[in-house]
Amino acid sequence: IRSFATESSTSTDQDQEEKVIGETKKKTFQAETRKLLDIVTHSLYSEKEVFVRELVSNASDALEKLRHSQLTDASLDSGKPMEIHISVDEAKNTFIIQDFGIGMTEEEAISNLGTIARSGSKAFLENLEGESGAASTKDKIIGQFGVGFYSAFMVGSEIKVYTRSVTPGSKGYCWTSDGSGSYEIAEAENVAVGTKIVIKLRDECKEYAKEAVVEAIIKKYSNFVDYPVHLNSKKI
Ligand code: ADP
Ligand code: MG
Repeated sequence: IRSFATESSTSTDQDQEEKVIGETKKKTFQAETRKLLDIVTHSLYSEKEVFVRELVSNASDALEKLRHSQLTDASLDSGKPMEIHISVDEAKNTFIIQDFGIGMTEEEAISNLGTIARSGSKAFLENLEGESGAASTKDKIIGQFGVGFYSAFMVGSEIKVYTRSVTPGSKGYCWTSDGSGSYEIAEAENVAVGTKIVIKLRDECKEYAKEAVVEAIIKKYSNFVDYPVHLNSKKI
């Protein structure tokens, strides 16, 4: 485990920080995903703040999926409130988003975060094929279609996803990538049910570690979110 993981687990939502305990498996992203990530990580796209909207919307989807599952299986419970918690830290240059939603099994993390299923991303790649390859064109297409979870790589030099499925008996996992072709996944302990994404921000994206900046972005999109969003323990 790299020192970054230890430093960045500052969440007040639990007593103990997550820790990788299992063997780390290194995997290569699907070819399409590599292509998408290469563009996203080198993008000069100016509205990088959309990563907040994408991650909040994924957190909201995960809570909604949990709520749905509970209709048929009332025993499913994350043990935590149906909320989205964001925390930013200027000193550590991190942006963290946690939900207590449905979470992911190891297989789900591998297939959902390592391959492109999303229609928006597929459309993005298809539209790219016919283009000249100019950076400005790629950036325009990012804006048009959105790149979902991968938008985190526009601002992050390293992303860690701690996740644990609400399905009883599920173990926690840590998925890590710097967006450059491969990712690692390992079993981890002290992972809450749901998903926690830790973004180590690029130096040029420091502003997203600022509470006031992030608060303004959340407010811009909060109309579309069905669950309470907390920022540094304060309800937005
Ligand atoms: P989309 O939301 O359009 O499906 P994304 O790229 O935003 O595409 O996310 C890809 C997939 O990763 C989601 O469909 C979901 O299965 C999984 N995922 C992402 N974030 C979370 C989360 N917070 N909790 C559970 N699953 C998630
Ligand atoms: Mg999404």
